[in-house]
Amino acid sequence: MESDLVAWIRDQVPGHPRLGLGPGDDAAILRLGDRPSCVVTVDLLTDGVDFQLDRDAPRRIGRKALAVNLSDLAAMAAQPVAAVIAVALPRHDALSLGRQLLEGLFPLAREFDVAIAGGDTNTWDGPLVISVTLIGETTGRGPLRRSGARPGDLIVVTGQFGGSILGHHFDFTPRVREALLLHERYDLRAGMDVSDGLSLDLGRLCDESRCGAVVWTDQIPISDAARQLAGDAADGSTPLDHALADGEDFELLLAVHADEAARLVADTTIGAPLSIIGEFVAEEGLWQQSAREGRRPLPRRGWEH
Ligand SMILES: [Mg+2]
Repeated sequence: MESDLVAWIRDQVPGHPRLGLGPGDDAAILRLGDRPSCVVTVDLLTDGVDFQLDRDAPRRIGRKALAVNLSDLAAMAAQPVAAVIAVALPRHDALSLGRQLLEGLFPLAREFDVAIAGGDTNTWDGPLVISVTLIGETTGRGPLRRSGARPGDLIVVTGQFGGSILGHHFDFTPRVREALLLHERYDLRAGMDVSDGLSLDLGRLCDESRCGAVVWTDQIPISDAARQLAGDAADGSTPLDHALADGEDFELLLAVHADEAARLVADTTIGAPLSIIGEFVAEEGLWQQSAREGRRPLPRRGWEH
């Protein structure tokens, strides 16, 4: 549903002189001064969809509400500045719940030097809904976009993939520092964060860059959690299936010029594991390639909102 609605919105919303970048990327870019420098993103988390209030601690939910936005600013290689927070609280427990959400959110805001600029609260008889709008600014290197990948660029990722439901989707540290360092030191051509699934999000980056990609599945860094889920699963799913489709990894997915990729992934001062997992190609579409099975189509799988 979401992708169809976003496509419709992109058709309806006219360009505007204040918009450096409109809907369709990880965040929007506004022209407030003499250069496009203000980055804005928003996320909405709902009980029963993004978390389960009867199971998950409110502090973890509050932290996640900011962390997912920080991940989108990382995707743009932007520096976080300030947040505004909106919550719809279930009426029976509003004050206590609101405080716990913010007690989870504030430490992460301090860690990333995010000013809490304001917000709005409502109480109602519906489920808990929390939405954070995060404002950031681009560095002198400009924003990192989804649209710059070119055939021959290599696919580079941070971290590991799959199995986030076992805890990583709450406890991840957004890759803001890593994105800023990488963007400063290397020629990143395109990037995004993996929120909905590695294969699904790679497909989106390819759509924006009007190219295709081959993923070398033997090279994908697979998390222990993905192996655990596959071991427990009755459906025959493999660790690789989880790595390609689970989502909420909140790792960076980058297009890097082939001449720079080897040097980039060998840079141990970035603070995250870095892996080359494939290459962008001219022919549109996604493929997976392994030593054992050769090259075959890679379906886009992940979390569809
Ligand atoms: Mg994103």
